[in-house]
Amino acid sequence: MDSVSRAESLAATSVDLGSAVTVRCWGTRGSIPSPGPTTVRYGGNTTCFEVRHGRQRLIFDAGTGVRPLGNDLVEKGPNAIHIFLTHFHWDHIQGFPFFAPLYDPEDKIKVVGPKQRDIDVQNLFAGQMGPIYFPVPFSVVAAEMDFEHLNEGTFEAGDVMLDVMRVRHPSFVLGYRIQVAGLTICFIPDNEMDGKGYEVGQGWEKRITDFVGDADLLIHDSMYTEEEYRSRAGWGHSTFEQSVRLAEEGGVKRLLLFHHDPMRSDDELDGIVSRLRDESLARGSALELEAAAEGVDLSLGE
Ligand SMILES: [Zn+2]
Ligand SMILES: [Zn+2]
Repeated sequence: MDSVSRAESLAATSVDLGSAVTVRCWGTRGSIPSPGPTTVRYGGNTTCFEVRHGRQRLIFDAGTGVRPLGNDLVEKGPNAIHIFLTHFHWDHIQGFPFFAPLYDPEDKIKVVGPKQRDIDVQNLFAGQMGPIYFPVPFSVVAAEMDFEHLNEGTFEAGDVMLDVMRVRHPSFVLGYRIQVAGLTICFIPDNEMDGKGYEVGQGWEKRITDFVGDADLLIHDSMYTEEEYRSRAGWGHSTFEQSVRLAEEGGVKRLLLFHHDPMRSDDELDGIVSRLRDESLARGSALELEAAAEGVDLSLGE
């Protein structure tokens, strides 16, 4: 190979591996799957988010959206898979027993999440496959599994760097700050911005604003309207307005409203997004915002 064609081939390789990052929400819904004609556009599967960079595919939460993601991974061959969990509420783990790569002995799966007091991640995650809850035991899993806990600090997965922070939600719950290819993505699906009584320490508001600081993309819990929140304070979730405020104060570029209430219809979401955009424009805000939609690839950094 002469030097020109070598350079061309290297350039082609680097394009192939991609400096761009693609993200996809495989599940956008909170609490419980909500399929049906009124949720078909934004999606009925529960929480699952993927970050793709080159050959790396990082998974965040394993709600029912992880099932179609698993099928896609199986189609593309043996995999080294990372699953990062924010917490262990059902809507964030219930797709796991149906994640097809589990049953392929050629796959390696690392699960990282926050330990809950003395209970380790394997027991928390695999416990849902106990005989009372599920017919197939965890011992049937054929993939090489590895569990690690991460309650604070950083984690490196290839060339992706992750920071975590405890957020306001019942149990020990994480938000992730993901740095990849010069981009910053924050994934915080369950978080009650105005919640009281969570053990998150002093100065939490300032810390979370810094944590999302200058992110290219923030995916944040936006479950309630202000009116709904009045009777649901303490349930662990934020309002649309609270998400927008956090994004604006942190200088975030783009916000995806996430963890849709199971009762929220597509048409309602359209109306809410349009109202929030008008309000944000009137404030002179540069924030781009939209409701997270299941199954849509978003390219960043192009
Ligand atoms: Zn949730
Ligand atoms: Zn939760």
